[in-house]
Amino acid sequence: MTASRDARDSRPPLAIPLQPVTGDDVVPASVDVLVIGGGIIGASAALFLAQGGTQVALCEKGQIGAEQSGRNWGWVRQMGREPAEIPLAIESLSLWREMNRITGAETGFRQTGITYLCERARDMADLDAWLAQAKGSGLPTRWLGREEIARMVPGLSRPVMGALHTATDGRAEPELAAPAIAEAARRAGACLLTPCAVRGIDRRGGRVCGVITERGPIACQAAVIAGGAWTRLFAGNLGIDFPSLKILGMAARVEALDGVCDMPVGGSDFAFRKRLDGGFTIGLRNHNVAPLIPDSFRLFADFLPNLLKHYREFRLHFGRHFFEELRTPRRWGMDEVSPFERIRVLEPSPFAGLIAKSAARLGTALPSFAGARVTQSWGGMIDVTPDGVPVIGPIKGIPGLYVAGGFSGHGFGIGPGAGRLVVDLVLGRKPCVDPYPFRLERLREMKALPECAPG
Ligand SMILES: Cc1cc2nc3c(=O)[nH]c(=O)nc-3n(C[C@H](O)[C@H](O)[C@H](O)COP(=O)(O)OP(=O)(O)OC[C@H]3O[C@@H](n4cnc5c(N)ncnc54)[C@H](O)[C@@H]3O)c2cc1C
Repeated sequence: MTASRDARDSRPPLAIPLQPVTGDDVVPASVDVLVIGGGIIGASAALFLAQGGTQVALCEKGQIGAEQSGRNWGWVRQMGREPAEIPLAIESLSLWREMNRITGAETGFRQTGITYLCERARDMADLDAWLAQAKGSGLPTRWLGREEIARMVPGLSRPVMGALHTATDGRAEPELAAPAIAEAARRAGACLLTPCAVRGIDRRGGRVCGVITERGPIACQAAVIAGGAWTRLFAGNLGIDFPSLKILGMAARVEALDGVCDMPVGGSDFAFRKRLDGGFTIGLRNHNVAPLIPDSFRLFADFLPNLLKHYREFRLHFGRHFFEELRTPRRWGMDEVSPFERIRVLEPSPFAGLIAKSAARLGTALPSFAGARVTQSWGGMIDVTPDGVPVIGPIKGIPGLYVAGGFSGHGFGIGPGAGRLVVDLVLGRKPCVDPYPFRLERLREMKALPECAPG
């Protein structure tokens, strides 16, 4: 396999300084497992498959890590997670700690701890309730005392009622991580095909026997859909209802500052995370833009409970996304150009007003940030399930087909663990954590619905 660039690989400039990964030239005729999507989930799955000696190809329609996995805030956290996700978050943390060694590259992981500041009684009550639920999980999460808060998050100017801290949480670098994991997968024997959209699945006797890519068919015994925000569309063409909606997440980068702590910190309306380059990635916490799209109406009943519970955190937006989605075909043939080839990288524009607000809010909470120059800003489309928990597991009715999607704004931290879990399921090994909470079927039996905010 060569690492040269060619005409297919004409990478457009992105809003994020992503570590580039060049695709392999030769498309294999067959592999054991085909992974669809080169975000952190697909890259991790490809790595663990290849390390175990499975023949694997990873197909990415655009660039490795260019969608959510390269655009997120970089928080690697166990704290605040849905109880069902905590074992997966713990498994992921143990993989993140080894990630630089495993990949032989810098993924930016640092075990800095993470702190949530509570400025309102309602935030204290919410986190207290979470802590009670998480009791017994083995996490070292604890409330900080006043002096500890002042020492660990110096320079706070707004009054804080309390702060919850998990020392084993950390941060990593989105622009480096998925590319590093994918390169490690290639060194372990995986074939990286990019740009190479998968149009659909080929079946024999109902079982997966291959995939059809824009560069031709590839025979395989199993396929993993790890398509992020595209998973619903891809599954829909196979007749599978994968209920997920897109939320627009945003972030900005500010230049290096002195006197700010190394760990990610979230307040009621601000969030920041130190970057390896010394600067910070900042964002508005508890504030998401939900673009109204045709699926918003199709899935209204599924999402209504979560919307009612978190209505304060969502801003509905009607605009061009509606018409773009309306124009996107929901069905296509294997000999047709698919929607995945028409949009190589989902690169939604951030709202300038919200970026300015995130910088201003941070400046009032920590005056060290006041006047800090925003050097870059970007948006990312987050795939959210109705209960805010991802789907990881087999698709019933199509033997050999697996999905790992719907990470609902927090899949970067659990990405390596999710990759390992789906690989365990594909290979029929004892799963690293209980996969039951992640089954697709639960989304049609839901009652109580937890949080789905990024970070
Ligand atoms: C602004 C923002 C902040 C966030 N903050 C955090 C955070 O701090 N911590 C955290 O844990 N999570 C965070 N998240 C969420 C996290 O980034 C995602 O949950 C995670 O990256 C999802 O990974 P993925 O591999 O499933 O999807 P993606 O990274 O979106 O990758 C999916 C890939 O599949 C490809 N693809 C799709 N269809 C096809 C096809 N048919 N053929 C070939 N390729 C295809 C796409 O091009 C894409 O590259 C944030 C997200 C955003 C946008």
